[in-house]
Amino acid sequence: MSAQPLLTVKDLRKHFPIRGGLFGRPVGSVKAVDGVSFSIERGETLGLVGESGCGKSTTGMMVLRLLEASGGEIWFDGQDVTKYNKRELRQFRRHAQIIFQDPYASLNPRMAVGDIIAEPMMLHNLAKGAERTKRVAELMQMVGLNKYYADRYPHEFSGGQRQRIGIARALAVQPKLIVCDEPVSALDVSIQSQILNLLVELQEQMGLTYLFIAHGLNVVKHISDRIGVMYLGKMVEMADGDELITNPLHPYTKTLLSAIPIPKPGAVKNRIILQGDVPSPANPPSGCRFHTRCPQCQEVCKVEEPEFRKIGSRFIACHLVE
Ligand code: SF4
Repeated sequence: MSAQPLLTVKDLRKHFPIRGGLFGRPVGSVKAVDGVSFSIERGETLGLVGESGCGKSTTGMMVLRLLEASGGEIWFDGQDVTKYNKRELRQFRRHAQIIFQDPYASLNPRMAVGDIIAEPMMLHNLAKGAERTKRVAELMQMVGLNKYYADRYPHEFSGGQRQRIGIARALAVQPKLIVCDEPVSALDVSIQSQILNLLVELQEQMGLTYLFIAHGLNVVKHISDRIGVMYLGKMVEMADGDELITNPLHPYTKTLLSAIPIPKPGAVKNRIILQGDVPSPANPPSGCRFHTRCPQCQEVCKVEEPEFRKIGSRFIACHLVE
């Protein structure tokens, strides 16, 4: 591995303005992502988890500059992505791709699968004519699809097969980084593991780096080297995947972990049920953002925001963890 991480994100923020009044002036903001920092080494998978609305997908979109950040830095291969001009951004798009959650909505229903996979190569001028057709066949085989299906349309495939098409399209430009935005959430459990295994195999073959976004730890634990847990726009804990799963320290991580069913008949699990709803990111709680639902909340938590700091080999934001 190179000494320099492939991706480094520093204090990333996305605040959506709330407009009101007669003239639609900004009257506040939704802090969807509010100061998130992490890095990903080459060939590594960082899992990003949290409930819906915690800002994980917004983070993924900002990393790829599909959504402009309100603040912070994004360094890719030693360069600040937020400073890229149009030409540089185009090149960057070749190196950083995305796999979407809904494989059907992300594929053009009027295009044959071969054309869908070939399109990024065309856009980036990577292969032409017979060479492009050959490459499409290779990519289809690589993701476990029959190359003779290249003339078929997305609706002729199952959900799992459509996600394989999405993966082949992302691989077509030989990217370094892939943001996997809940790539298995819409699939049956039996198909989920096939797609996860495929992503692991492709990573080994091609040295890919993944930012893998999911709402549950049960999915990310299978694929991630490290895991970051987000709550209401903030990172609350980040650690080696095995360490986080076997010894979660942040009360919110413990809650997420308690939601994973034990695959054993008769096994009983002490599930932690959180009280109340997720607060609005337009008006996040004072102090620790998790304090309104935390079973271990103390007085200090209500007034003082815990710093996201390194403790041992992990990063964590909680007053109770020393
Ligand atoms: Fe809970 Fe306090 Fe830790 Fe926040 S800082 S997670 S409220 S114990």
